[in-house]
Parts: sequence; structure tokens; C-alpha cells
Amino acid sequence: MNFIDRYLPPSKFNSVLKSLPKQFKLSVIGKSVLNQPIYGIKIGSGKTKVLMWSQMHGNESTTTKVIYDLILSLSDSGGSFLVEGLTLYIIPQLNPDGAEAYTRLNANGVDLNRDALDLSQPESIVLRKVFKDFKPDFCFNLHGQRTIFSAGKKGKTATVSFLAPAADPEKSFTSARTIAMQVIAAINNQLQQSLPDQIGRFDDTFNHNCVGDYFSCEGIPTILFEAGHYSNDYNRNITRKFILEALECAIDVIQNKTYLNYSVSEYLKIPENHQDYVDILCKNVTIKEGDKVFYNQEMAVQFIEELEGDKIKFQPIFHSFGDRIELLAHKTIDFQDNSRPSVFLFSQGENINNEDFWCFK
Ligand SMILES: [Zn+2]
Repeated sequence: MNFIDRYLPPSKFNSVLKSLPKQFKLSVIGKSVLNQPIYGIKIGSGKTKVLMWSQMHGNESTTTKVIYDLILSLSDSGGSFLVEGLTLYIIPQLNPDGAEAYTRLNANGVDLNRDALDLSQPESIVLRKVFKDFKPDFCFNLHGQRTIFSAGKKGKTATVSFLAPAADPEKSFTSARTIAMQVIAAINNQLQQSLPDQIGRFDDTFNHNCVGDYFSCEGIPTILFEAGHYSNDYNRNITRKFILEALECAIDVIQNKTYLNYSVSEYLKIPENHQDYVDILCKNVTIKEGDKVFYNQEMAVQFIEELEGDKIKFQPIFHSFGDRIELLAHKTIDFQDNSRPSVFLFSQGENINNEDFWCFK
């Protein structure tokens, strides 16, 4: 069992929970809209408390796989290194209904990361209750991000991104936010060795209804982890290794308080995410749009993820075309080099079902 696929429904993941070593305290902490259990796992008894939750967006499974990897790693070490200083509280799948359906939203169609103030959904209430009862000193908000992001303008792919969420509209460096920034700077310092120039900083516009912003506002240092794209790694099993490294580093620097050696300015040096990528750039294609024909065009193609059976299919979608596309691409195909037809008929946002689009198969 190593969860290679992108699709990770509770029906698969929950098998992990049944065989947890006894130092992991498992409990049902609430129910989803569709009455699925939401689990919490506690490990350690140290003074410093870290709360982390994954898959509040159901289609963001990478960090849940990392939680599985973290559990394995903690099991191997007997969890002993944590017991000394930390208590971890892990919610592996906050949105089990979304994880089952492979949707960002919960079963009521609500984005749980826009429900921190409203608490309109049972899953949001579960997270808030754990936050109040457990009283964490640190929060890790675990997410996945799309393939479109670069680390810095026209930079390399943002494989991992972080954010110390703002606690007010002015984006002040409150004491809690400063600590989160120091932890991220420490992780970045280590992770740059294995993942140079592929670490980005997420947009910090304040939204009180986002969970990270809310917790930051409550004075708890909160760190957003975003699992992004790595070249040809659409199932994100390479990204997964980097996120595990980031998570273990975060735990380590919190435990040893070495994050105090880092500064806000080191955090601010991490390049900001830009939306500069598409999945595929096609060169020298002919586009027919209505009765107009455009020759020697560039065409940008973006994948969307669709659940088919128990697999995720990456469906190519027409993004844009023009004489020259000012976007970077994870893959470039020059149709001049191919003997296959290169004529495409579609309009923006449409599925590409053209049989001639053999290159995506
Ligand atoms: Zn997310």
C-alpha cells in the first residue's frame, strides 16, 4: 500500500487507520455532510502542540499521502523523537465527501476554506472544535496547487509553495505571523538544497473566512503548505517526497526552536507565485474557429482532472491560441516536426476530443 494514484478516497485511505501502531490515538471527531466519519490522530505528549489537517479540498490528495508517509516514518522511529517535545494532532481527510467525489468542495458545494467565520458546514465545525479543544501552538494547513504556478515571474515550476497567512487586511507582521514566517524560512533554507528555485510564496491577500487567515488572526502561527507540480509528475509522487521533507523539517525546527535563527526578510526573499504555466504548448498548428482559419499558430492546452472509475484522467482543454503565447509550458510539441495532422477545431474551455490529438494519449 503506497497510494501511487492521485485519487485517494476515504475507502482506500481508511485502511491505514485500522492498522495504526498503538502510540497513535485514533478517534472519530465528527461526521461529514454525507455522514462519513472524520478522523483525528494524536501522537506524542510533548508540551508544544502542532495541529495539521489535509484534504479540506477533496481533490488535493498529495498531502494526505504525505501524512501516510509521515505516519510510517513515525512508526519506524516509535514516535519517540516526538514524545520528547511535541504533540501532533493530524486530521488526514477533513473533507471525506470531497475526497470520495474528487471535488474541491464538500457535498453541499461549499469551499471549506471560505467557511472559517461562517462555520456553515459540519466539517468546518469539526476543525474549529479541535482547534479550540487542542489549543495548538502551530497549525499546518495542507493543500495542493495547480500546475499553473511558477516560483517567481517566469520562474521554474512551483513544486512547493508556502504562506504565512495574513492576520489583518494590512498584512501586518504580527508575532504569530512572524513565527510562521521564520518556520517557513527555515524549511526553505533546507529544501532549496534538494529543490533549488522551485519553491514559491503564495499570495497573502487577507480573507478572514480562509482558515489559515482566521487561525493567524487568533494568534496561532499557521503555515500553508502547497503541493505543486514537478516535471512529468502528474500523480505527484515526486512532489510528495519534497512535501514530506518540508513537513519533517518543520517539525524538527519547531521542536528544536531553530526557526528562531531565521528572519522575516529571509521569508520575503522566497519568490512569489505567478500564474505563468500551462500544461502543453503546441506550435505550428492550424486553428479553425467558426469559418475563420488561422495558420502557424501557437496553442496553449491545460489539463483538467476528471474522475473515471477509480482513476484520475487528465483531460486536455483548449486554453488559448495566438501568433505567440506568452506563457511557459511543462511540455512543448512542435507539429511541424510531426507527420500527423495539426488542425484543431474548438473554442475556449472546450474539451479536446479531436482524434488527431494523438500526442496526449
Ligand atoms: Zn486547497
